[in-house]
Amino acid sequence: MEFSRHEPTLRPEQTPTGLSTGRFEVCCRECGDDEGGYDSQSGEVRDLRGPYPSKDRALEVLVLHRAMTERDW
Ligand SMILES: [Zn+2]
Repeated sequence: MEFSRHEPTLRPEQTPTGLSTGRFEVCCRECGDDEGGYDSQSGEVRDLRGPYPSKDRALEVLVLHRAMTERDW
């Protein structure tokens, strides 16, 4: 039985030079996010990634995404 739960990760958004922007991103490898540049991701991955204005908001999205993929189809 295939278990397809997604395990997205939360990370601080950074500028290309590595400075923190104060916003947060949600990366889901199971959705195809390779944690590379935003421009190289698919539309779906971008939608999930955000960035979100606060850590709490990003965490909310992460938990919701995980819950959505937790079901046994
Ligand atoms: Zn996902």
